[in-house]
Amino acid sequence: MATIFTKIINGEIPSYKVAEDENYFAFLDINPNAKGHTLVIPKQEVNKIFDLDESTYSGLMSFAYRVAKALEKSVVCKRIGMSVVGLEVPHVHVHLIPITIMDDMRFTKKEKLSNEEFVALASSIARNFE
Ligand code: AMP
Repeated sequence: MATIFTKIINGEIPSYKVAEDENYFAFLDINPNAKGHTLVIPKQEVNKIFDLDESTYSGLMSFAYRVAKALEKSVVCKRIGMSVVGLEVPHVHVHLIPITIMDDMRFTKKEKLSNEEFVALASSIARNFE
């Protein structure tokens, strides 16, 4: 069965998309630790990050690098934190989190955003994506 993230890639489930190419996709986390919390995923459906083949893994990191640059231009923060967990959704995803305090990296701290805020954030990050 397709993962929820594959359904997002295929447009069967809506998302706040920030970037996409042939092999990778980035969108806002629906339950963000901090404003701008973004997930970067390979289109290939693989559960665990170190089960990716090395070139897909490297491509994912390069794509995440470009998304992080766009995030830094779009959100006020001290830096972009990066984390890989994957206990909830069995489809590789890199969390990119604009952080100001250590708690922004804890998945127990959550930010409530309106639909309008998500839309504005996604379009700002998309504009800054190169
Ligand atoms: P984890 O698998 O523990 O790394 O966490 C999965 C992440 O995916 C969580 O931060 C969720 O908030 C996020 N998430 C789950 N479903 C969606 C969705 N439909 N759209 C955006 N983010 C999601």
